[in-house]
Amino acid sequence: MFKLRGELFGFGAVTLITLGFFSCNNFSNAVFGSHKVDSLVNKIEELIEDKPTLHSKWDSLRHNKIVFRVDSLNPVDIKTQKKNLRDSLRREFDKHPKHVYLTFDDGPLVGSRAIDSIARAKNIKVNTFVVGRHSTIGKYRLRDLNLYIENPLVAVYNHSYTHGYNRLGTFYADSIKAFEDFKKNESNIKMNSKVARLPGRNIWIYDNERRIDIPNAAPTADLLHKDGYKVFGWDVEWRLNSYSGEPNIPFETVYNRIVNYMNNKSSKEPNNVVFLMHDDMFQTKKGQKLLSDLIDKLLAKGYKFEFMEDYPIKY
Ligand SMILES: [Zn+2]
Repeated sequence: MFKLRGELFGFGAVTLITLGFFSCNNFSNAVFGSHKVDSLVNKIEELIEDKPTLHSKWDSLRHNKIVFRVDSLNPVDIKTQKKNLRDSLRREFDKHPKHVYLTFDDGPLVGSRAIDSIARAKNIKVNTFVVGRHSTIGKYRLRDLNLYIENPLVAVYNHSYTHGYNRLGTFYADSIKAFEDFKKNESNIKMNSKVARLPGRNIWIYDNERRIDIPNAAPTADLLHKDGYKVFGWDVEWRLNSYSGEPNIPFETVYNRIVNYMNNKSSKEPNNVVFLMHDDMFQTKKGQKLLSDLIDKLLAKGYKFEFMEDYPIKY
C-alpha cells in the first residue's frame, strides 16, 4: 500500500491512506520482462498523474479515508482539522457552478402539459420519470407523453409501467416481476437513457454509490442496475395539493431548503441537488405559477438546470 503524504489546502500534514487508485491490486497482473516493464512504468505514471479531484477529496473526507494527525507540525485537534478541511472544500465548491435537477414523477397526468410548456418558456432542462400505463388512461395522456418525448428540454426516464398499482409492498416482493414492469415501460416508450427511479423509494445506485432507504425494493433496484440502469432518488421534495395547488411547505421554505443543501453540501453529491415533484401538482394555475416562480428564483441564483443522465457533475 502506497501512502501519499502532503498538505491539503494548508491545513497541516494529512495522510491519504487510500484514494482508490494507490492499491497493490493495480499491479497484480504485471509481468516483469520486456515491454511489460514499460507498460508498468506507464501505468505508474498514469496513476501519479491521476490527481485527486474536488469530489474525490470530498468523498475521502466523507468516508473517513483521510487520517488526521496531531503532532508538533500540526498541533490542532482532529475535530478542528476536519472542520477546517470541510470548510475549505466547501469554499472550493462554491467557486464552481451549482446544478439543480428538477424531476417530475408519475406522468403523464393532468399537469404534464403545463410542465412541458414551462420548460419551453423558461428554456430549462427538466426530468420526467414516467409511468407508461398512465398514457392509456384519459383522453389526452398519450398526447402529453408525446409532448415530453418531442421536447428536447424534457428528459424521459423510467418509473415503471404500472407504478405497482400503488401497492408497493406487493410490487417489490416479486423483484423479477417488478423489474419486468420497468422493462415493459422501456420497450413501450422512447427513453432518453437508462435512468430509473423506483416508485415510492428513495434509492440511489450509480457509479460506486449505493444507498437504500427501504430494503424490500433493493433487489429490484439491483436488477435494474445490473441491466445498465442508473437508479436515482432525491434530495429535496415538494408537494402541492393537486386540486387546490396549495403547497405542503411554503414556497420560501422549499426554496431555502434547496439553497441550504447547495451551500452546506448536504445533498447526496455536493453542488448537485435533485428536487422531486409530481406531475399532478401542476394542474391548477396556482400550482403552475408556483413552479414558474421557483424556477425564476433558481435562475436568478445562477443555478444550472441539468438532466439526470449527467448526474453528478463533478470537478
Ligand atoms: Zn411515483
